[in-house]
Amino acid sequence: MDSSLNRRLVILGGGAAGILLAMKLASDKQKLGIDITLIDCKPFFEYTPSLISVLYEASDEQFERHFCNITADYETLLGGLGVKFELGIVRDMDNENVILGDGSQKIAYDILVICTGSFYHDPWKVPCQQDRTTMQWQDRLDYLRTHRDKYKSSEDIMCIGGGPVGVEVASEIAWRAPLKHVTLVSSSDTVLSGTPGGVADGAGRILNHLDPIRLLTGEKAEKVDDADDSTYKTDKTNTEIKTDLVYLCTGIRPNTQFLQKSHPNWLDDKKRIRVNEYFQVRGDDSSGGEGNTSNNSKSVFAVGDVNDVNEPKLWFTAHMQTVHLYHNLKRFVEGKNDMVPYSGSQISMVISLGPHYAVGSFNGFVLNGWPFGRNSGSKLAAIAKHTVERVTMNDFHSKKLANDILYQTHEKGHLFQKITGTCLSQR
Ligand SMILES: Cc1cc2nc3c(=O)[nH]c(=O)nc-3n(C[C@H](O)[C@H](O)[C@H](O)COP(=O)(O)OP(=O)(O)OC[C@H]3O[C@@H](n4cnc5c(N)ncnc54)[C@H](O)[C@@H]3O)c2cc1C
Repeated sequence: MDSSLNRRLVILGGGAAGILLAMKLASDKQKLGIDITLIDCKPFFEYTPSLISVLYEASDEQFERHFCNITADYETLLGGLGVKFELGIVRDMDNENVILGDGSQKIAYDILVICTGSFYHDPWKVPCQQDRTTMQWQDRLDYLRTHRDKYKSSEDIMCIGGGPVGVEVASEIAWRAPLKHVTLVSSSDTVLSGTPGGVADGAGRILNHLDPIRLLTGEKAEKVDDADDSTYKTDKTNTEIKTDLVYLCTGIRPNTQFLQKSHPNWLDDKKRIRVNEYFQVRGDDSSGGEGNTSNNSKSVFAVGDVNDVNEPKLWFTAHMQTVHLYHNLKRFVEGKNDMVPYSGSQISMVISLGPHYAVGSFNGFVLNGWPFGRNSGSKLAAIAKHTVERVTMNDFHSKKLANDILYQTHEKGHLFQKITGTCLSQR
């Protein structure tokens, strides 16, 4: 086939969703007659879920080694698959082009997949906002090292937010530096609210058994004086918290700044991209459905943290959405009118409680250390967390296969979930 006739498929963002999609589509690009380009604001892939364990590694050498092990150079990774990589911050887009950098660089597309994810409080995500410049691997390592030094020199540390990030940060520090004092403040009555009961209860009990941790639930912490960063008070029990270092572990913000000027109608009130059940961007019409997207948004898709799909924003769900989109994209490119709606996924997740233990839920099955590790957590879940890291970094070329299996067993439109869902509802 004459490659000049190929359609140009452009992927914005090479995080959980973007890199998996590029890897999966790469094997079909000749058959489908597409050229694939992936754009990211940094030249390397970074596995976010392991960053917490990286930052608090036992020694500086281990910190650096572990960071190397969870990052990969896009150019090398994608070049080998025949996927083009472009380094740049996406600033804007029109019906035909993605606009990068200062506006002088344009990348033309026929099909666009937006996987720009979300931003989190420091230091967990590389900033890709419009006012930033691209970040090199060494700069990122230095930046994390500065945060590590801050942690090493702090005695009293506070984490605000009792979600997975707050829980992982507090417990990792408690294990690695048992002489420090860690206060974890959660405005919900439990930590990990929204996860299956056995996971949340287990995590709360285990945190209460970690000596360095003081757990304050059901209230918020606020600064006593705006000019003083070291003293906080909770709003209900007026507990005073002295701190040298605060981690904000609350909420994510979708990376959609580049759409706010030219495509504000694509965004909901939380600035997430509105998509239909095929992950096609909803244009002017908010009612959704394949037929309701405007012409230009029909060939624009969005998956992962950046979209408004109502499920937890996780690496796991970004992967499940991506595998689903991959199958639909093949149908879309081939001009078949049989895209399949996404039914949502049964959630599987693992939350570390230090380097040796974790809690989690796999396809509805809870791992919280019961019965022997009730006060420490599950070793099996910790092994699972490590295994997921290595599979994601594509050790043994297992990433695509592992995600296919997870998708077949977790996406609710598939037989496995239909059977297990029916069995559970009959209990
Ligand atoms: C500390 C931490 C720990 C976590 N742990 C877990 C966990 O254990 N399990 C789990 O399932 N989930 C976890 N998550 C959530 C998970 O990381 C996200 O849900 C997941 O990364 C979302 O994937 P994504 O592909 O949508 O976006 P991302 O992974 O955020 O990728 C977005 C990509 O787009 C790029 N980008 C963004 N904006 C631009 C732009 N304007 N121009 C160019 N490039 C851009 C970014 O550089 C990035 O590479 C964790 C999150 C954090 C912060």
